[in-house]
Amino acid sequence: MATGDGTAIRSTCPYCGVGCGVLLRPDGQGGLDVTGDPDHPANRGRLCSKGSALGETLGMEGRLLTPMIGGQPADWNRALDTVAARFRDAVAEHGPDSVALYVSGQMLTEDYYVANKLAKGFMGTANIDTNSRLCMASTVAGHRRAFGTDTVPGTYEDLDEADLVVLTGSNLAWCHPVLYQRIIAARETRGTKIVVIDPRRTASCEVADLHLPIAPGADVALFNGLLAEVARRGLIDAHFARNLSGLEDTLRAAGADDLAATGLGEDDLRAFFDLWCGTEKVVTIFSQGVNQSSSGTDKVNAILNCHLATGRIGKPGQGPFSVTGQPNAMGGREVGGLANTLTCHLDLENPAHRATVQDFWDAPAMPEAAGLKAVDLFEAAGDGRIQALWIIHTNPAVTMPDADRVRDAIAACDFVAVSDVTGHTDTARLADVLLPAAAWGEKSGTVTNSDRTISRQRAAVPAPAGCRPDWDMLAEVGRRMGWANAFAYDTPAQIFREYAALSGAAARHGRDFDISGLATLTDAQYETLSPVRWPVSTGRTGGRFFGDSRFFTPDGRGRMVAVSARAPAAARDDARPFRLNTGRIRDQWHTMTRTAKSPRLSSHLPEPFLDIHPEDAVRLELSEAALVRVENARGSAILRARVTDSVRPGQVFAPMHWTGETAPSARIDALVPPVVDPVSGQPESKAATVSVAPF
Ligand code: SF4
Repeated sequence: MATGDGTAIRSTCPYCGVGCGVLLRPDGQGGLDVTGDPDHPANRGRLCSKGSALGETLGMEGRLLTPMIGGQPADWNRALDTVAARFRDAVAEHGPDSVALYVSGQMLTEDYYVANKLAKGFMGTANIDTNSRLCMASTVAGHRRAFGTDTVPGTYEDLDEADLVVLTGSNLAWCHPVLYQRIIAARETRGTKIVVIDPRRTASCEVADLHLPIAPGADVALFNGLLAEVARRGLIDAHFARNLSGLEDTLRAAGADDLAATGLGEDDLRAFFDLWCGTEKVVTIFSQGVNQSSSGTDKVNAILNCHLATGRIGKPGQGPFSVTGQPNAMGGREVGGLANTLTCHLDLENPAHRATVQDFWDAPAMPEAAGLKAVDLFEAAGDGRIQALWIIHTNPAVTMPDADRVRDAIAACDFVAVSDVTGHTDTARLADVLLPAAAWGEKSGTVTNSDRTISRQRAAVPAPAGCRPDWDMLAEVGRRMGWANAFAYDTPAQIFREYAALSGAAARHGRDFDISGLATLTDAQYETLSPVRWPVSTGRTGGRFFGDSRFFTPDGRGRMVAVSARAPAAARDDARPFRLNTGRIRDQWHTMTRTAKSPRLSSHLPEPFLDIHPEDAVRLELSEAALVRVENARGSAILRARVTDSVRPGQVFAPMHWTGETAPSARIDALVPPVVDPVSGQPESKAATVSVAPF
């Protein structure tokens, strides 16, 4: 949709889950000028450094422009025939669970919907997982345990209206900068207090009223301590709690946990408890520091428990708030793009839910149980259980835990197709078939941001000849596998309407996700669709959930979940005395295929590094900028030391962005163990143990 003066196309930033609106104007040289959209509710014109540098990242260098088979250029017909044949043969010879798709929060909802329909409805396998497994799976599991669905209760307006914002496991200032700016603006106008809970002193601490340098992995102990304090002070909301189950057991478990595990001093704990208990309008924001843990789901529920017990949820300025890492992590969750979920927030293992979807799709086969989650999926690719694998817009050879083993597993898999905008990634180099995809700015569809707002991404420039949208490739493979009617899509609008209609059928099972009010959009209305927060049905639009204490569990009650603190899986010892934390930096995105094209972004922190405390540096005789070897039994990395007291003694931090292409010795996820949360299957990416030595 063009703006009023007809000069700009409205779209959405392709980076984080804030989902900022952007205005795209051709720059007259084949590129785009990118500015913030003042009318988008997520950002109201603001952009961070990454969003404002988008125009610098659209060059054609490195683009994959033609399909490749076995490293040789091929035409689309042959490439798609090959993919369809290899998947069809694997299913025929070895059964549906011998194939898998590994997809991405970079995909648009329409792409994600077709991928999920193809795998779960037609190939008959639940082996479709997504890099959102590395990002938000623990939140999905925690939401489902507490609410009965994967529902984000609040909205971004809550950040404007809160009197206290708690950031836990979230460096919002760098990872979701525009939301951080919103909180700073609220602080200036209403004096919002900010608490940061993080083992590191991050940029988010700069304006914080309180920083709690919690011991790695100790969030459950802290929030259990808070819940026990809430009960001691008589702050349980008795009226709200009438519609909660599990309260007594949860309070008992919370009271039994030991606050000493947090590593925090009494004064800090008292200050936090006083702030939280004394402020009704409190929002607790959580992100990867909570999710990427072997107890990630319990951490999420420990946070939700505090908000449920006090009734501080679903009301203006109150609630737990998960911020998602990727532009369409939420859309992927909504279409059911995880191996253990079904589309429209239905349950894969519920026969009535499956029947609704199977009927709607007129699908021949539906899996009855969860498929392989990411870590197990790549293990199966390496040992021959997966015979055909399609990886779309993600680079698991770098980003998965135990990345060297995952790289070997992909190399060992019988057949691997990769769709991407570049053929020069660690994963793309292992592909049997490479499929060139349309990039951001060239493709059209929708994304859902962290507060359930659906926005359009729109094409502002034509895709290069030879590149295709993902939904188109997926539908074409579906047709070539024999399902012509089910995948007879010509436009993303057609896919969106089908999906919206399915959500109406799903809502009849008492589900939260309902966008049936968008099922009759004409092509022109889809094209001009303004950002809209779901649900969008005849009975309801936008708004918050659970303020009325009605939940989506079978008995309609919210569930308090009794949880107890557990230490990270890997224990430190004399051989590996350091706890390795990994994460993002301000100006790079994932494996840098786009952001590294901007000199401005690359100049922020130009090379891979390891943050280490001055006491540890002295003991190891390391000086600032020295090269160090970081190592454990799984792998090693050579990094530049940054001596800083932003990390605690015994803890080190390294960014996750560099790859075999950009810095072969700095593939940090090679050192992350493939340990997962038993409920969510999310890997513990922030608590490896390593040795550090001068290089
Ligand atoms: Fe893009 Fe996120 Fe920055 Fe907004 S905050 S401009 S969505 S990277």
